Amino acid sequence: MQLTVDLRSDTVTKPTTGMLDAMMSAKVGDDVFGEDETVTALEQKAAAMFGMEAGLFCPSGTMTNQIAIKCFTQPLDELIADQTAHVYRYEGGGIAFNSAVSTRLLNGDRGRVTAEMIEPEINAENVHFPRTSLVVLENTVNKGGGSCYTLADIKPIADLCQKHSLKLHLDGARIFNALAATGDNAIDYGKYFNGISICLSKGLGAPVGSVLLASKETIQYARRVRKVLGGGMRQAGFLAAAGIYALDHHVERLKIDHAHAQILGRALAQCSWVSHVVPPDTNIVLFDTAVPADDIIKKLDQKGVRCMSTGPNRIRFVLHLDVHPEQVEYAVVVLRNLEI
Ligand SMILES: *Cc1c(COP(=O)(O)O)cnc(C)c1O
Repeated sequence: MQLTVDLRSDTVTKPTTGMLDAMMSAKVGDDVFGEDETVTALEQKAAAMFGMEAGLFCPSGTMTNQIAIKCFTQPLDELIADQTAHVYRYEGGGIAFNSAVSTRLLNGDRGRVTAEMIEPEINAENVHFPRTSLVVLENTVNKGGGSCYTLADIKPIADLCQKHSLKLHLDGARIFNALAATGDNAIDYGKYFNGISICLSKGLGAPVGSVLLASKETIQYARRVRKVLGGGMRQAGFLAAAGIYALDHHVERLKIDHAHAQILGRALAQCSWVSHVVPPDTNIVLFDTAVPADDIIKKLDQKGVRCMSTGPNRIRFVLHLDVHPEQVEYAVVVLRNLEI
């Protein structure tokens, strides 16, 4: 029997029955007036989890990142990030547009950078140079195939930022995958970062939403920036309820997605048409193909296995809560029997 297995992204999930029930029974109000108790509960819950003072519920991860960059820089400043960073590559040039800030790119290991890489790129005080004011890390790294930092990796970077009075922001769209893989505690993240973006609509399975976490003062300003970007939402508690449900029910299970990624990684390594599999650290499997990626994608699609290319000879599989064990088994059979 042909199944459908959608491995294009962990954003394709649909709300579960439990999540829909939570949404339907949410108590709501006008959040722009500060009167939506479910939104407030989500913001407080997420902030407490990460040891931060306050949170701001936003429609997307892009918005939380862009607001954070606006909060932590002034026009004419420069931020430092890896060349694969989502904030630079996949947010439509928003760093320049929203914040009038330039970007200094590093060449990290699957998107992971070190204090040694950052330090020489911090500009000296000189009118020729933009003022370096912010470092942005991503955990896990999307383009790195779900590679992740431990808190021990992050500490020297946080120390360096403190030494040079730089702000440190975390694009944590998949931070819960990093926590599942490393065993680090979420609450310790608050010690190192000035801002943290978490996404509820990736592996956690909510239909919409991200939360920016920071100090009370930063969030107060962030609320203004969200408004000016058109992100002030009214009875958003229906969406926040999905987020609360996701934090309560869909964090523990991320380990299953990681195990599924391992299974698919092993199956791919056996395929004659696969030239290299990037070791899957979390829920993403990146691999290189000996023939054009689009040919493989078409053939997989005919068998119900949907995926995307990230380069002419590179394909990405992303595991998530709507990929069940029997679908993983089915995908393995399809991979084994694919005629190239
Ligand atoms: C998906 C993602 C985001 C935010 O994306 P939205 O689609 O705007 O919610 C941010 N950073 C990373 C690393 C992502 O993968």
